[in-house]
Amino acid sequence: MIKEKTAAAELKELDKKHFFHPTSSIKQQQQSGPAFIFTEGKGIYLYDESGTKVIDGMSSLWNVNVGHGREELGEVAKEQMAKLAFSSSFASFSNEPAIRLAAKIAEIAPGDLNAVFFTSGGSESNDTAYKLARHYWVVKGQPQRQKIISRSKSYHGVNVGATSATGLKPFRDFTNSLAPDFCYVDHMSPDALRARIEQEGPETIAAFIAEPVQGAGGVHVAPENYFKEIRSICDEYGILFITDEVITGFGRTGKLFGIEHYGVVPDMMCFAKGVSSGYAPLGGVVFSQALYEELGELSTGTLLHGYTYSGHPMACAVALKNIDIIEREKLADNAEKRGVDMLNGFEEIKAANPIIRAVRGLGLMGAIEFHSQESADGPLAPRVLAEAAKRGLICRAVVLEGQDILVFSPPLVITNNEMQEMLHILQASV
Ligand code: PLP
Repeated sequence: MIKEKTAAAELKELDKKHFFHPTSSIKQQQQSGPAFIFTEGKGIYLYDESGTKVIDGMSSLWNVNVGHGREELGEVAKEQMAKLAFSSSFASFSNEPAIRLAAKIAEIAPGDLNAVFFTSGGSESNDTAYKLARHYWVVKGQPQRQKIISRSKSYHGVNVGATSATGLKPFRDFTNSLAPDFCYVDHMSPDALRARIEQEGPETIAAFIAEPVQGAGGVHVAPENYFKEIRSICDEYGILFITDEVITGFGRTGKLFGIEHYGVVPDMMCFAKGVSSGYAPLGGVVFSQALYEELGELSTGTLLHGYTYSGHPMACAVALKNIDIIEREKLADNAEKRGVDMLNGFEEIKAANPIIRAVRGLGLMGAIEFHSQESADGPLAPRVLAEAAKRGLICRAVVLEGQDILVFSPPLVITNNEMQEMLHILQASV
C-alpha cells in the first residue's frame, strides 16, 4: 500500500515536471499536477490509481462511444499488430482493414457519400476537407472559389485550417497567424448564410461547414428546418456543403450520423472520435461519389495530400470491430432512449434550481446553461463541475463567449440506472 502511494506521488511529480498537457492551464498543471491519473475503465466508469471510481460523463472527449474496457477491441488490435501493424496506403499500396473499413463507412454513410479518405483525427479531417474543397474548384476551373464559411460557436479542431474555421473566437485569438479566406456566420440562421454569401460574392466561396449539433461550443441544436435551408442555399449558389460529424458520428445523437436528423446529405462528411471509440487514433472524410470522380481530374495529376497514418491497418481493424459493436448492440437506439431520460432529468433539475437558464440536447449530447451573471463569484459551471467530481462524476464546463454551460456526453452503453446515478450526482452538485 505504501509502495502504491509512493508510485502515485512519483507519477504526479513526473507529470508536473514533464507532461505538457493539451488544452490545460499550464501553470495550474505545473503547480498542482493532475486531478486524476486514470488506470482502468469499465463501461461508463473510470478508476484512478487510488481506486476512486467516477462516471465518465463526457465519454472522455465525446469519443468513447462503446464504453471503456472492451476486451474484443484489444484482441483485434493485438491480432492486427502481430500480423501487420503498419504499411503505407500511399499511391497503389493498400491493406485489408482499411479497404473493409472504407467500404463499411460508405455503406452506413447517408446518400451517395461513398469514398473515404483516412486521417488520424478530427483536425486532420477538417484540414483535408478544406484543402480538397478548394482544390475541387481549381479542377472545376473556378480557382477563385477559395473561401470557407463556418458558424459562430463552432469548433473544428486545432490544426491551422481547423482553427481558422473554428467560430469560437478565443481559439482563433490564441494563435497570431491563421489561414486566409475563412469567414463566419450566425450559427442558427440560414438567412445569415445567404447574406454572407451575397456580401462576399458567391463566386468566391468554396464551401460551408457545420457540425450537425455543435459540441464544444456548448451543445447547440439547430432548428428543425435549418439544414434543409442550408442545403438548398448551398445548391442555389453552387457551394459545397461539409458536415463535421467528429462528435455526432457513430451513434452519439441517436442516429448513426447527426445530419440524418435533418434529412439532407452533405458533399463531404468529416469524422473521427466515435469511429474507433478512442481505442485507436483515427479520422477521415467521406466524399460524395460525384466529388470523388471530379477529383480524379486533379490538376497536379497526383493528390499532394496524405498522412503517414492514413489507412493505418491496426486503427482501421479496431474501427471495424467498434462499428460492429455499435450496430450489434444497437447503441444509436440506446443513445436516443437514454438521451430522452437525460433531458427529462435536466428539466427536473432546472425546475428545482432557478440558477439554471436552459437545458438542451439531442441523443447523448446534453447541456445545462446557467444564469452566470447572477453569481457574484464568477461562472457557475466550473464550480458545479468541481462538486460533481468530488461526488464521482466528470463532465465539462464551457465558459466561452459569455456562456456558462456544463456539457455531457456519456458513453452510448449507459443504462437507465446509470443515467439516474449520473443525474442524482448532478442534482446534488447543482
Ligand atoms: N471537429 C469537432 C466537431 C470536434 O469536436 C473536434 C474535437 O473535439 C475536432 C473536430 C477535432 O478533432 P481532434 O481533436 O481529433 O483533432
